[in-house]
Amino acid sequence: MNHPLLDLPPMSAAQFASIEDRVAKLLGTAQDVVIMQGEALLPLEGAIRGTAGPGTVALNVVTGPYGQTFGNWLRDCGATVIDLSVPFHTAVSAAQIREAFAEHPEIDFVSLVHAEAATGNTNPVAEIGEVVREQGALFYLDAVASIGAEPVLPDAWGVDLCVIGAQKAMGGPAGVSAVSVSERAWARMAANPGAPRRSYLSLLDWKERWVDGGRRALLHAPAQLEMLALEACLERIETVGLAAVMSRHASAAAATRAGALALGGGLEPYVHEAHEAAPVATTLRTPQGIIASDLVTQALTTDPALPLAAGGSALAASMIRVNHYGPDATPEAVRSCLTALGTALTENGVTVDLEAARGAVAEAWA
Ligand SMILES: *Cc1c(COP(=O)(O)O)cnc(C)c1O
Repeated sequence: MNHPLLDLPPMSAAQFASIEDRVAKLLGTAQDVVIMQGEALLPLEGAIRGTAGPGTVALNVVTGPYGQTFGNWLRDCGATVIDLSVPFHTAVSAAQIREAFAEHPEIDFVSLVHAEAATGNTNPVAEIGEVVREQGALFYLDAVASIGAEPVLPDAWGVDLCVIGAQKAMGGPAGVSAVSVSERAWARMAANPGAPRRSYLSLLDWKERWVDGGRRALLHAPAQLEMLALEACLERIETVGLAAVMSRHASAAAATRAGALALGGGLEPYVHEAHEAAPVATTLRTPQGIIASDLVTQALTTDPALPLAAGGSALAASMIRVNHYGPDATPEAVRSCLTALGTALTENGVTVDLEAARGAVAEAWA
C-alpha cells in the first residue's frame, strides 16, 4: 500500500546541506549553520554544554522559564552563574546588562532568550549585543520564539550561538532545529575538555565530521520527514516573504493587545509596554478573583482548537497566553480567542464589551 509519509528515499547530504543554506539565508548569517536532529532543546543544551565549563562565568538572563533551564545547565557544567532575573511583565534592558558587567567584569558568557512565548516578552537583542561585544563575552541566544515573528540577525547583533526551531512563528516542524555558530564559539568548544564529543548533544561532531568535511557525509540518517517539512516551511516563507510573515505576527500581537483592552472587564496585557511585548504570543492578566487556568478551560469549551493556554506553574493563576503564531497569526484567530475569553468572563459575572473588542481587533490589524 502506498502512503505519502512512507517508503521515502534516503535524504542526500546535498539536500541536507541545501536546507542548512536556506536556514543561513533566513538568519542572514555567514556563520556555520548546523541543523540538529531534535527539538530546539537539543541545540540549546548542546551549545551550553559545548562552550561552558568550570572556568566559565556566565551572565544568565532570566525573563521566563527557559532562562531558568539554561542556568541549571550552566551550573551543571561547572560554570559560575550570575542570574539576572527581571519580572515577567517587562524586558531586560541593555543598561542592566552593562551594570552586570560593571559588577562582574569576569563575565565571559551571556545567555539570553530573545522572545518568550511562555511569558510574552521580547528583549532588545541588538542593544544588548553591543554591550556583550564591547566586553568580549560569548553571546548565546534562544531565538526559537522570535524567528519568523520579528527580525533575528545573529551577525548584525554579534550573536555567537543562535538557536532556532520552526514550530512557532515559522509554522514548521518541531522535531528538527538549527543553530548558527561563530568562529569564536567553535574555538571555545574545541578548547573545552568537557564539550560533548561522540554524543548526540555534540555540535563539535557536526563541525569536525560534517562542516569541515565539506558536508559530504552525514553523521547518521537524518529525521527525514522533519527535514522535508523544514524544507517546505522555508520554501513557503521564501515565497510569501519573511517580512510578510513577521508583519502578520506583529499585527496579531497589536490586535490582541488592543482587543483585550477594548474588551474591558479587567483583562489587561501582562507585559506593560507594547514594545516589550513579543509578536509571537500575547499574555494577558486576568481580573482580580478570576483564575486564568479556569477561564481558559471555560473559553476552550466553545472551541477546543483555539490557541489559548494558561501560564505555566505559578502563572496559571493569573496569566492567559494567546498563542497567535504560525497558522494562528490571523485576525480570525485573534477575534475568536477574545470572543471566547469575553464570553467566559461574562459567565463569571464580569461585564465586557465584545463589540468594542472586535472593532479594536479590526482597527489594530489594519
Ligand atoms: C517554544 C520555545 C522553545 C522550545 O520549547 P518547546 O516548549 O518544546 O516548544 C524554546 N525556547 C523558547 C523561548 C520557546 O518559546
